[in-house]
Parts: sequence; structure tokens; C-alpha cells
Amino acid sequence: MPAPTTIGHLIDEQLPADLREFLHTAGEHAAGEGFRLFLVGGMVRDLLLGRLSRDPDLLVQSANPSMSDAPDLANMLAKALGGEVASVSQFGTAKLRVSGFEADLATARQETYAFSGALPDVMPATIEEDQARRDFTVNTLAADLSPDAFGTLLDLHGGADDLQQGTLRVLHDRSFQDDPTRLLRAARYETRLGLHMARETEAAARRDAERLKHVSGDRVRHELERIFEEAQPELPLARADDLVLFQTLVSTLEWAPELSRAAQAIREAGHETTPLLYLALLSVPLAKGNSEALVARLNAPVPWAEVIRDTHTLRVRLPSLATEKILPSTVYARLSGLTTESILAWSALAPDQTIRGLLLSFLMKWQSVKPHLTGDDLLALGVPQGPQIGELLQELLNARLDDVVVTRDDEEVLVKDRIAG
Ligand code: ATP
Repeated sequence: MPAPTTIGHLIDEQLPADLREFLHTAGEHAAGEGFRLFLVGGMVRDLLLGRLSRDPDLLVQSANPSMSDAPDLANMLAKALGGEVASVSQFGTAKLRVSGFEADLATARQETYAFSGALPDVMPATIEEDQARRDFTVNTLAADLSPDAFGTLLDLHGGADDLQQGTLRVLHDRSFQDDPTRLLRAARYETRLGLHMARETEAAARRDAERLKHVSGDRVRHELERIFEEAQPELPLARADDLVLFQTLVSTLEWAPELSRAAQAIREAGHETTPLLYLALLSVPLAKGNSEALVARLNAPVPWAEVIRDTHTLRVRLPSLATEKILPSTVYARLSGLTTESILAWSALAPDQTIRGLLLSFLMKWQSVKPHLTGDDLLALGVPQGPQIGELLQELLNARLDDVVVTRDDEEVLVKDRIAG
């Protein structure tokens, strides 16, 4: 079957009415103001795949190009459609918020870098030049939104054909060297979209995997976060492991099959999962020095560093839970204050079944237990202001956890007993 040359019918058939109307109206306004407007990137690709995506990326081109083209058009559209321009960047982009979704508008541009890792110097360019900066052919597809050519595909790199064949392909052989974060992006796109890297692309990925070593922690972390936000992050994580990407970050870092099984088991058990659960799972095999190396390598902000460190802390503490007839209050003391993600990760991976059960009991029951009585109640019962209040509240909590007291009356009896004693 020949590759499609238009997506006009897909926009009209697949998109919800508000988005569909927005694309038509935006194309008409742009044409009226002398701009050419294209729908680009993920939404074009996803329409061809029959997948729904919500927030459109738009590319603006004009006869006398200026970096303010996209912000200017965004302002006009905001006025015409009753939306607002949420932000404008120095790189010629603008975010337009209309009811229900956000559209990113970008001026067609070229980027040059004074040195590796520098912020880009940007200048206006043609849409062809703009698309040539992209990561994979399937992301270079652009659909014209002008009223007289609505939906016509601009397909300069064979993206429609690759999409049809299920192929993920870089635009040129040095693509991963130019930007090694594309290696992580490749793992994500392959598994999310059911694509396979072209043979030469995979060879280039394996050849250039080492280059990830030179990418800043912030950029690596950003792409990892995108992976963690996927519906089944274990798929891209396993693929990234297969491409030997993790060892370039920390020499002992890997995503073994048991981590994929743990991720699935946790989700299937109905636990609420957050993206950082997958960071905890990734950190489970790490010894101390290596978890600190991961924190440093990712330039980890506090929430990430906590998860990585807590996961290691638990590795050290878990054996102390393997005591026969351990009390819930003892488990509580050893786990409270640790991140939920690190506990959840170990609940699927601790070697001992009993310990897994204790971790789950803590998460599902014990961590939310509180005494009936508050500090004020203790004062009212005659406990003097001072450290004894805190000590008694802790004793009440332990007594509740261990079922020594159940009701408020039980707690009052215990407190009165302490005061008298
Ligand atoms: P989707 O997952 O739906 O493609 P996304 O949010 O992953 O969207 P973004 O990361 O926002 O995609 O990128 C948007 C577009 O920018 C992509 O279609 C891609 O072509 C381009 N892009 C993003 N990162 C890179 C990169 N490192 N190199 C080249 N192009 C990139």
C-alpha cells in the first residue's frame, strides 16, 4: 500500500470536535495573516497510527521570517479564539491555552551551538530545515493546515513509509552522536508505538551508546522521567538495558527481567504507582557507592535522591525485619519516613515472603494508624506540658499498632495509668 499523502480525513474523523475545529480555525487565521501553519510531531504520527494525542505542536512559517512569528500568531489566535498565551520563550516558541488543551507554537528555526551543552543560538529557517533537526523520520511529518491544502502531508524523510513499515529510523548516521539522549528516546518510541529500529539505526545506537556518558545529568534525567511516565515503563527500560545504555551512566546499573516482573506485579496488584516507583526499582540492585554515584550522575533533585537513597537504606534494613513474631510497632519504626516508592519496590523484590508481607502491611495499614488522643487531650487529662506528651503519644501509637489498645477509652486508661504510676 502506498504511504498516505494527507491526514485531513484523519483529523476530521479521529479528533474530538474542539481540537478539530481549533486546527481548522488556526489554519484559516494563519493564512489570513500571511503565515503558513503546520501540525507537526507526535500528533501527526499518532493520527496515522490511530492513536489519540491531545496537545498539538504547530510550526509557523512566514514570507519574511522572524523569531517572533509564533508568539505573534499565538497572540492573534488567543484573541480570536478566547484563549490565552501562557508563555513565550526566547527561542521563538509560545504556548497557547485554549479551553481543554494547550498548543505549542514554534517558529520554524535552525539551531547552532557555540559549544556542546550550550544553549542554542536560534535563527528563523524554512520548515524543511526545521524538520531536519528532528530525531526520527516518523517525527518529521508535518501536515499543512492552510484551508486550501488542509491535511496535506509534508514528508521529506520518508516518515509515512517508515510508520507503515513499523520502522524507527534516524535521519543520518551521526544522529545519536549529535544528541545521545535520542538513544533513550528510541527505546521509548519503539516500545510505546510498537516500532523496531531500522538495522542501520540499531547498529548506530549500539556503536554510539557510550556517548551517553557525556550528556548532562539533567538531560538524562529528563528522558528517564519521560520513560517512567509511560504506561508500561518496564518495556523501554528493558530495551534501554538491551542497548547497554545503563552501564554508561553507572557501571553496575542494569534493568534485569525480574525488575520488569516486579513492575507488572505491583501494577496488577492495584497499587497506586508514580513515575518514581520505576526509579526505585532501577535502584534496587545498587550497592551503597553505586546509589550515590547514580544520585550524582543524574544530578538528582531531592525527591529523586530520596528514592534512590531510601531504596539502599531498605536493602540494609530488610534483614532486621526477618525476626520471628516481629511487632508492627517495630516494623513501623524501621520504615516510617522512607519513601513509599522504595518500600513498594522492595515489597515485590525482597527475597523473603514474610518481609514482603510486612512491607505491604506497613503501606496499606500501619503507616496511617494514629492514636485517638491528641496532645491537647493528654493535657486535658492532666499530663504536664513537656517531653512526656511526645513520649506518651509515641507509646499510644505503638500500643495501637500492636493492638494493646483499641478504643479511645483504652487509650485514656493507659494514659491515666502512666500519670498515676
Ligand atoms: P511524543 O511522545 O508524542 O512524540 P514527546 O512529548 O515525546 O511527544 P517531545 O519530547 O515533546 O515529544 O518532542 C517533540 C518533538 O521534538 C518530537 O516529535 C521530536 O521530533 C522533537 N525532539 C524532541 N527531542 C529531540 C531530540 N533530542 N532530538 C531531535 N528531535 C527532538
